[in-house]
Amino acid sequence: MIRIVSFPLFLLLLLGWPTAVSLSAGQRPSRILQPRSEADSALDLYMNVLGASLHQKARGALAGIPSRPRRLLALKYYLNRTAEEIERKWAWSQAEASAYRSSGEYQDALRELVAVRSYFAMLSPGYRLEAKVEIRSFGAQLGKWNSVGSIGSAGGELITAALTFLADSSLVVTDSSSNRLSRFIGFLHDFEPKQMPTVALPGLSQHGQFRAFDFRVMKGGRVVAGTVARTIPAVWDRAGWTEKLREAICTASRKFDGPLPEPYEPWHYAYHP
Ligand SMILES: [Zn+2]
Repeated sequence: MIRIVSFPLFLLLLLGWPTAVSLSAGQRPSRILQPRSEADSALDLYMNVLGASLHQKARGALAGIPSRPRRLLALKYYLNRTAEEIERKWAWSQAEASAYRSSGEYQDALRELVAVRSYFAMLSPGYRLEAKVEIRSFGAQLGKWNSVGSIGSAGGELITAALTFLADSSLVVTDSSSNRLSRFIGFLHDFEPKQMPTVALPGLSQHGQFRAFDFRVMKGGRVVAGTVARTIPAVWDRAGWTEKLREAICTASRKFDGPLPEPYEPWHYAYHP
């Protein structure tokens, strides 16, 4: 039989149980929802304070990340970037992208790609190389950060570790609030998620300024080796496409370097105009 939970109880379940729920001896607190912890509140406070200290472009990006784990992960990485680096590497606007498309530098890049593709075709008869010629907008980069699984997992690890760190009572007792904040910054800096993020920090992908290309190997209309992480060991490395792509790129051009080592992407090469 389905019973409708009465409104106030439903609200309590949503908001968390009130503080003093007394348990008689031997009773186990099986499914009591905890009130919002001090660590949780401290985390919100620190995220706000540190977020406000960032370059305005990074602040804007954080505002576009609704999930707290994904937002905290982005904050951790933005804190390591200087304002100068953010200015210099930030994804181009539509106007900047179209100005670039009518530049000689853009034509040079296309010529380099043609050279690489021709060499690859000679190296692997019957196959052809495709390069995605895109300038990945800030919006597209943000969309990836908000949806890709590895960011959710890494952010979840970070939230758990941050709450544990902030719940440490020795921090509360001995530290002034500014010491606590700087220790928290140190924690964020040192934390390394087990799950490696597989997409770039929003705004700072090399694809945002046409400074990288993703290649894929085709046969007729079929993708033989595409830009899918789980296919790397079998399809790229063991089947030899990683090496063939590297050889084609290194022989036909001197303007690329790669592939991307971390996260490992055998299809991703940086381009230096
Ligand atoms: Zn790429």
